[in-house]
Amino acid sequence: DTVLVSGASGFIALHILSQLLKQDYKVIGTVRSHEKEAKLLRQFQHNPNLTLEIVPDISHPNAFDNVLQKRGREIRYVLHTASPFHYDTTEYEKDLLIPALEGTKNILNSIKKYAADTVERVVVTSSCTAIITLAKMNDPSVVFTEESWNEATWESCQTDGINAYFASKKFAEKAAWEFTKENEDHIKFKLTTVNPSLVFGPQLFDEDVHGHLNTSCEMINGLIHTPANASVPDFHSIFIDVRDVALAHLYAFQKENTAGKRLVVTNGKFGNQDILDILNEDFPQLRGLIPLGKPGTGDQVIDRGSTTDNSATRKILGYEFRSLHESVHDTAAQILKKQNRL
Ligand code: NDP
Repeated sequence: DTVLVSGASGFIALHILSQLLKQDYKVIGTVRSHEKEAKLLRQFQHNPNLTLEIVPDISHPNAFDNVLQKRGREIRYVLHTASPFHYDTTEYEKDLLIPALEGTKNILNSIKKYAADTVERVVVTSSCTAIITLAKMNDPSVVFTEESWNEATWESCQTDGINAYFASKKFAEKAAWEFTKENEDHIKFKLTTVNPSLVFGPQLFDEDVHGHLNTSCEMINGLIHTPANASVPDFHSIFIDVRDVALAHLYAFQKENTAGKRLVVTNGKFGNQDILDILNEDFPQLRGLIPLGKPGTGDQVIDRGSTTDNSATRKILGYEFRSLHESVHDTAAQILKKQNRL
C-alpha cells in the first residue's frame, strides 16, 4: 500500500515517515526543493520504499496536480501535514492563513481530479488550535472537547502571529470537512483529522538539532539556554509527544473507528515550571546554569487554565501517551548530546 505524505521534511512528518517505512508501506513524500529531497533520501539511507516529489509551495493554485496526476493511481492513503507553523510574521494572510487554507483545499482538489477512485482515507494534520479559542484558554471554567471550534474569524485573528496561526488551522480543517461533505458523490475517501496540542520530543535525526528548532521544541531549547538569573514567563499549555502524534496519523487511516473523527491528541497540561523541574532534576550539568524557578509549584499554574477533555479520542486510539517527563527528557537529552554535554 502506498501513502502520500505532504510536508515530508517537517518535525512531525519525519516521525510519520519512519513509522510508515517500519511497517513496510511505500511512501511518497512531498518536499519543497531538490536539496531537501537529497537530504531526506540520504537520511533514510535510500530506502527503496521512499520516493519524493517536489511541491515548492502548497498555496500555489493546483500545487498538488503534478503529484496526483503522476502518482495518484498508486496512492491509497494521503496524510496532509504541510502547513506553516511559526508566529513570526505580520503578513498573516500571506504567511499563515492562505497557505494553511489553500494548501488543504489544493491537495483535496487534486485527489478529486486524479485519484478519486483510488484514495480511500485522507488524514489532515489539524491542531488543538482549531478547537481552542485563545481568549478562553485561561478560563478554568472552560472545557474544550472534540466538538469544539476556535471562535476566531478571518478578520479578528489578524492581530498577532499566535492568533493568526491558531485560526489558520481552524480554517484549513473546516475547509477539509466541508470539501468532504460537498464532494461525497465524487470521492471515495473518508476524512480523519489529527489535532495535536504542543508537540515535544526528539528530532528523528540527531543531525537536525541545531541552534533553532521547530516552533514547539524550541520552547524546551529556549529554557535550556536561559541564564539562571533570567525571569521565566509563567507560560502554560497542553503537550503531546511526537512519537504518539505520528502513531495517531497511522491509526487515522488504518483503523475503521477513526474514520470521520477528529482525534485530539494531548496528554494534559504543563507549565514552564514543570519543564524547568525536569531539566534541573535529570541533567545535573544544567543546574546553576538555568533558572530553578519555584520547584514543585507547577500545579499552581496549571490549575488556572481551561481544560481540554480528549477522553473520546483516548478511547478510540486506546494506547498510552508518553509522559511529559519522558518527552521533555528525550528532547533535552538529544540537544545536550549534540552539544557534547551529555
Ligand atoms: P514543521 O515546521 O517542522 O513542519 C511543517 C512542514 O510544512 C515543513 O515540511 C514545511 O516545509 C512545510 N510547509 C510549510 N509551509 C509550506 C508551504 N507554503 N509550502 C510547502 N510546504 C510548506 O512543523 P511541525 O512538524 O511541527 O508541523 C507539522 C504539522 O503539524 C503542521 O500542520 C502544524 O500546523 C501541525 N501541528 C504542529 C504542532 C506542534 O506543536 N509541532 C501542534 C499541532 C499541530 P519547509 O520546512 O521546507 O518550509
